[in-house]
Amino acid sequence: MGARVATARDASTDARADAGADAGARDASADAGAWGAASAGPVVSTGLGRPPRHAASADRLRVAGMTRMSTVDWPDHLVATVFLQGCPWDCFYCHNPALIDPRADGALPWAQVRTFLHSRQGLLDGVVFSGGEPTMQPGLVAAVDEVRALGLGVGLHTGGAYPARLEQLLPRVDWVGLDVKSTPERYQAVIGRPGGSERAWRALESVLAEHERRAGTDRPFDYEVRTTVHSDAIDERGLCELGESLADAGVRTWALQRFRSTGVRDPMPRGTEGRRVSFDALPRDRFARMVIR
Ligand code: SF4
Repeated sequence: MGARVATARDASTDARADAGADAGARDASADAGAWGAASAGPVVSTGLGRPPRHAASADRLRVAGMTRMSTVDWPDHLVATVFLQGCPWDCFYCHNPALIDPRADGALPWAQVRTFLHSRQGLLDGVVFSGGEPTMQPGLVAAVDEVRALGLGVGLHTGGAYPARLEQLLPRVDWVGLDVKSTPERYQAVIGRPGGSERAWRALESVLAEHERRAGTDRPFDYEVRTTVHSDAIDERGLCELGESLADAGVRTWALQRFRSTGVRDPMPRGTEGRRVSFDALPRDRFARMVIR
């Protein structure tokens, strides 16, 4: 995901992370709508119905870290950002490589996050769940419901690795930053796993449908599609193709994030020969909002 977390773990976990990500890839291929076997936690009243049948208690979340105050993780919102451990993918430019290992323990009990959020009621606009891939953990639904019950908004950073889970979660969420990382033919080279493009586009369909469903209601839903620009992930031609495809699908907000080396593995597992990618030929007029960071 986009934001970076400081954790106690360091790059020495990379070998473990690779092994764990393989397990995560198998888990992603099994995404069929459920959140995996887990015991249900206490139900928090949100007016949005009960959590999915297999949702787990928020206390089971493995939290890798938290940013107590951020103005950049959800545009125009003051939020706390909670980073969840584990990701089924292995993007060569990942800025949070210590968070990839899906088997690693959390560094911060959810109970501490809960206490902190109680103390910030009325001061924060919301909470962003980031990662890693936050939809990997079955405790996410319960955590989202707890945040909503505090009167805080909920944002989510996701790559769409679990589109069925995301679809279940969207009615409980106010904003999503969804990564669409490249054109279909380059996707596997970016994430190091097969099938990612299909998953991201399924996730995008759900995001756009949720946006339309809640338009004009008192609980609108917003989103941003995000693409990290590294020349080994996507070049000028690929960016134009992707831009046209996103616009054809109905995407109105596209954020391009120039690759930065902060936090990445050294050396990176792939993509060490990056060059600057020009944004001159992008189809800007097809988007209501195009952001370059
Ligand atoms: S989707 Fe890619 S960039 Fe995001 S946490 Fe996973 S490996 Fe890192």
